[in-house]
Amino acid sequence: MSLVTAPVLAPLATPLEDAHAQLSDAIGFLGYPDGLHQMLATPRRELTVSVPLRTDSGETRLFRGYRVQHNFSRGPAKGGLRYAPGVDLDEVRALAMWMTWKCALIDVPYGGAKGGVAIDPRQFSIAELERVTRRYTSEILPIIGPERDIPAPDVGTDEQTMAWMMDTYSVSTGYTVPGIVTGKPIALGGSQGRASATSRGVTHIALAALQHRGIRVEGARAAVQGFGKVGRDAALFPSQAGLRVVAVGDQYGAVHNKSGLDVERLAAYVAETGSVVGFADADALGGDELLELDLDLLVPAAVEGVLHEGNAHRVSASVIVEGANGPTSPAADRVFRANDQLVVPDILANAGGVVVSYFEWVQANQAYWWKADEVETRLADRMRGAWEQVVAYAEARDLSLREAATVLAVERVAEAHRLRGLYP
Ligand code: GLU
Repeated sequence: MSLVTAPVLAPLATPLEDAHAQLSDAIGFLGYPDGLHQMLATPRRELTVSVPLRTDSGETRLFRGYRVQHNFSRGPAKGGLRYAPGVDLDEVRALAMWMTWKCALIDVPYGGAKGGVAIDPRQFSIAELERVTRRYTSEILPIIGPERDIPAPDVGTDEQTMAWMMDTYSVSTGYTVPGIVTGKPIALGGSQGRASATSRGVTHIALAALQHRGIRVEGARAAVQGFGKVGRDAALFPSQAGLRVVAVGDQYGAVHNKSGLDVERLAAYVAETGSVVGFADADALGGDELLELDLDLLVPAAVEGVLHEGNAHRVSASVIVEGANGPTSPAADRVFRANDQLVVPDILANAGGVVVSYFEWVQANQAYWWKADEVETRLADRMRGAWEQVVAYAEARDLSLREAATVLAVERVAEAHRLRGLYP
C-alpha cells in the first residue's frame, strides 16, 4: 500500500486576523503607542445571545446570535446584521472593526458595529425568519437604539428583516422609532435610493478607478462575484455605463460570455430561478475561475477571504473594487501591489450603503424625506470626495489605497478618542 501525503498548506488567515494585520500596519505607520493600539483593536462591547426558534413543524431549534460594538468615539455604533450558517463571534468582530474604519473614512458621525445569527436563511420559511428576527432583536434590545447602535441589512437579511426589527423595538418602546434601523422599506421611513446605494457607490468608484488607471470605460471587461443585494446592481450599473460584464457568479456557480452578458435579462432569470446557473447565451464557469479571467475590472461582491495567497497570483484584473467586506487577504494585497494591480478597499468602495443609511437616519430623525435625486447627488459627492482624498494621501506617501484609507480612518477615530479623553 502506498501512502500519498498531501502537501501541508498553512491555513488561510481568518477575517479577524486580516483586520488585525491591517490595523497593525496603520498603527505602525502612525507610530501610535501600544495602549492606543489595543484600544482600537478591541471591541468596546460584545453580546452573545441564544435565539430559540419554534419551527413551523413545532420543534425547537437554537441558534447563536451576536452583536459586537467596536467603537463609539465618533458617534453611535452602526453596522449590518448578517444571517449565514458560518457566522461566529470572531467574524462579527472583524466586520464591526471594518465598519468603524468605513464610517470614519466616509466621515459619517458613527462608530462601528456588526451583528450576526448563525443560521442559513434559505432553509427557513418567512414566518420562521420573522420569529428568529424578533427574538434576536429582543435579546439585543438593551444595547441598541437610534442614539446607541443602529442595525442595517447585510448578507442574508433585507428590508423585511429591518421592518421586523423596527416593529419589535417600537412595540417594546411604546411608540414608532424609525431611526432604530436603516435599510427599511420606504413605506416605513426608508430612504429613496438606499436599496441600490452600495452598488451605486461601487460603480462610482469603479469608473473613477478605471479612469485613474487610464483604462477606457467603454467596452472594459468586468466580472462580478456575487449576485445578491450588492452584486446584482454592481453588474447592472457598470453595464449601463458601457462596461462589458463578461462573467457573473453566485454561490452555486458562474456564467461567462466573452462578448458581454445581458445583465438585465440575467437579473430577471435569477429572480425566477434563484441562481445565475443555467442562464442561456453564456457558458458555465466555476466560481473560482471567474476570479482568474482576463479582466480590466474585478468586483468581489460576496464574502470575506476569496482573494488569498493561494490564488492571488492567478488574478489578472488591473483594477479590483471590493463590493464585499474583507474579500482580499493582506498576503493577496502584497501580490497585487507587486504586480501593479489597483485594489480599492472595501471601506471606501462599498461605503455607499452606510452613506445612504446615514441619510436615512437623518431623514427619519427629522421626519422629513428627500427626493431620489437629492440622495443620489449627495451620495456621489461623498464617494468622489473620499476617493480623491484616499488617492491623494496614498500617492503623497507611497501607500496602497488600503493602507491610505485605513490610516486616514484610524487617525480620525484616534483623534476623536484623544479629544474626548479617557474616562475616568
Ligand atoms: N452592511 C452594510 C455594510 O457592510 C451596510 C451597513 C449600514 O448601512 O449600517 O457596509
